Amino acid sequence: MKTVSSLLDTAWHERYRKIAALNIRSSIYDVTNRCNLRCKGCFFFSSGEHEAAAEEMDLEKWRTFVQKEKDRGVNLAILIGGEPTLYLDRVEAFFRTMPTYCATNGQIRVPRDRFPDMMVGISLWGDEEDEEALRGKDTFAVSSRNYAGDPNAYYLYTITPKQVGRTERIIRKIEDVGLKVHLQLLTNDEQVDGFFWTKDKLKDVRAEMDDLLDSYPRTVISCKYYHEVITTGKMLGRTFGWSECPSVTEQLDDRNPQPKRLIRFIRWASDLQTRHRCCTSATRDCSTCKDGAAHMSWVMVNKRDHLASAKDLQNWIEVYEMFAKLYRFIPW
Ligand code: SF4
Ligand code: SF4
Repeated sequence: MKTVSSLLDTAWHERYRKIAALNIRSSIYDVTNRCNLRCKGCFFFSSGEHEAAAEEMDLEKWRTFVQKEKDRGVNLAILIGGEPTLYLDRVEAFFRTMPTYCATNGQIRVPRDRFPDMMVGISLWGDEEDEEALRGKDTFAVSSRNYAGDPNAYYLYTITPKQVGRTERIIRKIEDVGLKVHLQLLTNDEQVDGFFWTKDKLKDVRAEMDDLLDSYPRTVISCKYYHEVITTGKMLGRTFGWSECPSVTEQLDDRNPQPKRLIRFIRWASDLQTRHRCCTSATRDCSTCKDGAAHMSWVMVNKRDHLASAKDLQNWIEVYEMFAKLYRFIPW
């Protein structure tokens, strides 16, 4: 195995140095079981996770819980749901205690006087037509009004198979409202007709994602190695799935042999006691899982295997940088 220093020139080594010091320890929290939308393909509702536990209603218990999470070493709270903005007091319990990222559908504006620099990721599932079909409304019309020009918000654009060939218009719409965008792929958890990936579609979407990055480098937060890994499900000849996934809750991880995994990662339900299997849903078929965060974490936890060549290590650095930008550990 080669060493980092032997593989990198000065410029790459400097980039490596910045991320190597970060030591990110994330966990994921369901802030609520409720949402103001009901999207077809939402893993939370389709898998019944919204009924897995009764929500903790006592705010003081949330505050105590968050402090305990900090004490066990978590330094990045990723808030999901349901829709976290329905319970801003709970969001605030996290925000006041540790670096916090809030995933939202953007229909409610996070008040910036209360959460000045909290990173907000706004979900978007395509153009007006796809959003109507899958989410019941054109969410962009509202979310773009709520967050236009916000330096601490970006779109999390879930590309669906139907979007292939039509994504550039969306990127321009996002750029026009002064926001950035990260790309991920739909996992069709509810088997909606017409929204399945095929090998050809995945090949095409990879090329399209690469083109978007080349054409809109200041708007698209991504890298080509991530596009390769998420569209092929392959990394260094290995195949993504249950035996490789890094985003499994530590206490529920009985895999043998143990793959490289996120240290101390837990996905908590909103009763603050129940743990979900992983960062998405326990009913999802891992062989079709396209979760973007799980794929990028897969790369990140496997640094050692990227020490075979300079190109492999540079790929690893780019994915790590992308993650660090998305969660505000380094600037855009
Ligand atoms: S907005 Fe998010 S949490 Fe709500 S239904 Fe849609 S995917 Fe699920
Ligand atoms: S569903 Fe996806 S995120 Fe969950 S364990 Fe399987 S591969 Fe990992």
